[in-house]
Amino acid sequence: MHKTKRLKKSIVSMLLVLVLVVGQTVAFADTELITRSEASEMYKWDLTDIYESKEAFMKDVKVLEDELFPKYEKYVGKLDNVDTLVELFALDQEASRTLFNAYVYANLSVDLDQTNNDAIEMTSITSGLYGQYLSAQSFVEPEILELDETVIRTFMEDERLADMNMYLSGLLNQKEHILSQEEEKILSLAAEMAGSPRNVFDKVTIADKEQVFIINKDGEEVELTPGVFSQAIEDTDRDYRANAAEVRYSVYEKINNTLAATYEAEIKKNVFFSKARGFDSSIEASLNAESIPQSVYDNLVKSVNGNLDYLHKYYAVRKKALAYDDLYYYDAYVPLTDDYRMEITYDDAATMIATALKPLGEKYVTDFNSGIANQWVDAYEDDNKYTGGYQWGTYDTHPFILMNYDNTLNSALTLAHEMGHAMNSKYSNDTQPYPMADYSIFTAEVASTVNEMLVMDYLIENAKTDEEKLFLVNQQIENIRGTVFVQVMFSEFEKRTHEMVESGEPISPDALNTLWMELLTKYYGSSYTTLEYQKYGWSRIPHFYMNFYVYKYATSMSAAYSIVNRIKAGEENAVEDYLTFLGAGGSDEPINILKAAGVDMNNSEPVDSILIYFGELVDELETLLDEKAASQPNTTVYVVQSGDMLWEIAENYGTTWENLVEINNLLNANLIYGGLELQVPVK
Ligand SMILES: [Zn+2]
Repeated sequence: MHKTKRLKKSIVSMLLVLVLVVGQTVAFADTELITRSEASEMYKWDLTDIYESKEAFMKDVKVLEDELFPKYEKYVGKLDNVDTLVELFALDQEASRTLFNAYVYANLSVDLDQTNNDAIEMTSITSGLYGQYLSAQSFVEPEILELDETVIRTFMEDERLADMNMYLSGLLNQKEHILSQEEEKILSLAAEMAGSPRNVFDKVTIADKEQVFIINKDGEEVELTPGVFSQAIEDTDRDYRANAAEVRYSVYEKINNTLAATYEAEIKKNVFFSKARGFDSSIEASLNAESIPQSVYDNLVKSVNGNLDYLHKYYAVRKKALAYDDLYYYDAYVPLTDDYRMEITYDDAATMIATALKPLGEKYVTDFNSGIANQWVDAYEDDNKYTGGYQWGTYDTHPFILMNYDNTLNSALTLAHEMGHAMNSKYSNDTQPYPMADYSIFTAEVASTVNEMLVMDYLIENAKTDEEKLFLVNQQIENIRGTVFVQVMFSEFEKRTHEMVESGEPISPDALNTLWMELLTKYYGSSYTTLEYQKYGWSRIPHFYMNFYVYKYATSMSAAYSIVNRIKAGEENAVEDYLTFLGAGGSDEPINILKAAGVDMNNSEPVDSILIYFGELVDELETLLDEKAASQPNTTVYVVQSGDMLWEIAENYGTTWENLVEINNLLNANLIYGGLELQVPVK
């Protein structure tokens, strides 16, 4: 699942965009992986791009502490004067730019080696500085918000504050929901309790989570960790994955009451703050933060509801391919290819991605290649390196991408994704003044998803075998299912549960379980048989504690698809519009920035079109599966008994041992063992 971490700060904000992993398969490459210590310099960050040395870093620390932070004080109580405000903003820009360079430098250093004491010390220095900064400038927003709207509007007309217009209009937007000083004080006291539901959720589902075990394929009892589960759910042994699924859900059955109460507390918190601030509903309060009209949310849900047939058909195709009487939750992830896996080295991935991104024009591809060549990416894993992936940097630095590249398709897609964020950062930093360079979360994932879409498109078009194509088409279907359908189902659940609380309906475990099952049945259709235990599914989703957030996954992917479509169709100015979008940063409301790129999220067209594309992929999947079935001899499964010889089995089924080797992709004909399931011709 995608996570976006934002270092919260009032005047300017910083984005740390982490990897989007939605419903992607876990696949481990066979080839020997390169580690960071073995890799040459071009695969590693050069942090001297930020500071020459720790001494240079410490110099900035001193400037912040001794010169810049103390200056804030003289502006306290004087922000009703435009000249003072101009001076204050200049100070703030200098302070926050310096601070973020130091902050990012320290954190990137520690992520490369989490045992590096120098780096650890620097992160503790910078988090201290960050606290000092927050407190030094804490008077700014409240003071501006206390001014009359007309005064703020006059400020906005001052040329010297042109770069601060978005910031000031954002404050004006908030202003009508800001209360009196006394009331604000009470709200901020209440805010200290507001994190409790999420805290309890984390404790119950992580720290205090019951350990459960399964018997793995080697007959050993192992803990059902998320890693073990994600492999088990894709295993070809149906009983094995059915058991893993049931065991996994048993944990949530036992804490159903607790998690229902926790979630209810979270919703009540959202309702409390939205009412206190005079919003009509908690969804309105949440969307207001990025000025997203509620119609965007409602259209999204409506569009997906109108196109559920495509998802229903996907499960019908799956059910037919697997030849089951009933298709269950634990059959939904098993690969439709025979043990196919794709491997691609980092260098090949970088070249392939650059080729796939050609539709974005020469400038984009040249800048992409120069980012790869200029060590934007720290590519390989190492013992003490942070695991996972993200893109980060500051206004004054080039983008930095952390990866643990492992030769899988997922790794290649992650590189494409993070480079999408990187190019967005680069173009926004190049184009916008500092206060407007930061892009919103709403638009951030568009830049990354456009790249992923183009890469998947390219790979599908250039697949070397039918099996490869089948694998890729199914992967793309799963991407869209996980990013659009699933997230919209979550969005519907969130909206419904908040409405329940807002209208005084009781939120019991039963009510939540029932609602979840209704949605599952509606979304997955009649080819998918729900299991009783799936009703607890809602209770394990951490994103329900980030109210009204997940819909952005679906809107971003839809917007990205629309952009790719425009570009591929050769629409006039499509590439230029997209580059303008990438350079727009936070210079306007997210919805307007997208509109300038030719995507109107107030309209159902972008969402409808990605759903139609999903439908086309499902048709293609069906055709590929039909062709595969027609080309294969009818086979059945024979379970090898200990002592069996392959030639004996072959003779029994009227074939040759060579044929069995081929049908089953056996690496060694002598290595068959009791319990192995062989595909054999039907007698
Ligand atoms: Zn991302």
